[in-house]
Amino acid sequence: MKFQSTYLQGIYDGLVERNGEQTEFLEAAGEVLSSLEPVVAANPRLEEEGVIERLVEPERVIMFRVPWVDDAGKVQVNRGYRVQFNSAIGPYKGGLRLHPSVNLSIIKFLGFEQIFKNSLTTLPIGGGKGGSDFDPKGKSDREVMRFCQSFMTELQRHIGPDTDVPAGDIGVGAREIGYLYGQYKRLRNEFTGVLTGKGLAYGGSLVRTEATGYGLCYYTQEMLSVMKNDSFKGKTVVISGSGNVAIYAAQKATELGAKVVTMSDSNGYVYDPEGIQVDVVKQIKEVERGRIKEYTKRVPSAEYHEGCSGVWTVACDIALPCATQNELSEESAKTLIANGVTAVAEGANMPSVPEAVEAFQKAGVLFGPAKAANAGGVATSALEMSQNSERLHWTFEETDEKLHGIMIQIFHASYDAAKKYGMDGNLVAGANIAGFEKVAEAMLAQGI
Ligand code: GLU
Repeated sequence: MKFQSTYLQGIYDGLVERNGEQTEFLEAAGEVLSSLEPVVAANPRLEEEGVIERLVEPERVIMFRVPWVDDAGKVQVNRGYRVQFNSAIGPYKGGLRLHPSVNLSIIKFLGFEQIFKNSLTTLPIGGGKGGSDFDPKGKSDREVMRFCQSFMTELQRHIGPDTDVPAGDIGVGAREIGYLYGQYKRLRNEFTGVLTGKGLAYGGSLVRTEATGYGLCYYTQEMLSVMKNDSFKGKTVVISGSGNVAIYAAQKATELGAKVVTMSDSNGYVYDPEGIQVDVVKQIKEVERGRIKEYTKRVPSAEYHEGCSGVWTVACDIALPCATQNELSEESAKTLIANGVTAVAEGANMPSVPEAVEAFQKAGVLFGPAKAANAGGVATSALEMSQNSERLHWTFEETDEKLHGIMIQIFHASYDAAKKYGMDGNLVAGANIAGFEKVAEAMLAQGI
């Protein structure tokens, strides 16, 4: 990657030298650094105080063995991770991902993104992320429980309600959070808000389950309204994924008057020209833990197609990638553009490859980047932390209203930051800059 600033170039080259094999982390770091060119040029103190070189190095990386016994009595060993990336503005905060693809690069990329995302929420939370290469797919509840207990047996030494507060991500939902929380409590003999995304019976927050998907739609709605004087009403929406983010994005987009025509998983996608029935998807994915293909057996108007990237060949006005990183290629972006897409907002973390983002921006497609558009999940996690601290429970309406306000604020902070540095309408640069400014201010205040 080439930078105008020799300071940034030096940092990026150093990163490549030390983390050459960590492709996802380098992609995420490179993107943020390139947005910071005008900020670095305008603020010499950032270089004098070494803010950026400190920012790209995690404060702490924890890697550990996770041994557990499967249902056949065989010993299994997975690798666990927690990256405590930056605590300048609050305790580390970020999800745990359980997926066979998990490695240090992926956890570092996610932890790095989380710093700026969390800053954008306006709430006092630093950036972190963790997980394991354990695959919950096909495992029994008891196997998942034993894995979670073993994982927490080590993780509990490193976290706490004022230190580091994990939550869910891919592969970690209500079931896993319950098992993790139970083990933390068993070992520490304390009842605290150490995890978010908890069940409503034991300190969870209303709206947390829906928050990422709802927040994505609130952000998109504001982007459409401010930048195009438009809305979801009457629009055709393509959504990838069928997990927690995709499901509640589909529900909210439908409620706002759009027709969602697709959902997918890692095997393929369903196309329903009548509009996806979210309740059917919820039953298949949340209750039965089945594959999206099942949908066509229950809804006759739908077709199933093998291959998840085919979802981007479906013509739409708005695309919401909600599956996983780098799921939307340059070629898919060009197909979407040719088919008339006018807005894209990211529900997953870094789902569009850099070339796809560039293609959207060049074509004048509104583009809402993940760290702004999907920040509703972690924002509501921070609201859960507040409720746990005050030992109170807020109503659905109260929490949803706060989430809505936060997403509107995130859009405007990003939009204004882009404008301030002469990059009108570039919400990618705007989100990076707005997220960075608060963290940098805190780092400068706290010394080296
Ligand atoms: N995993 C979510 C994210 O990527 C939420 C993290 C949290 O709630 O702490 O932001």
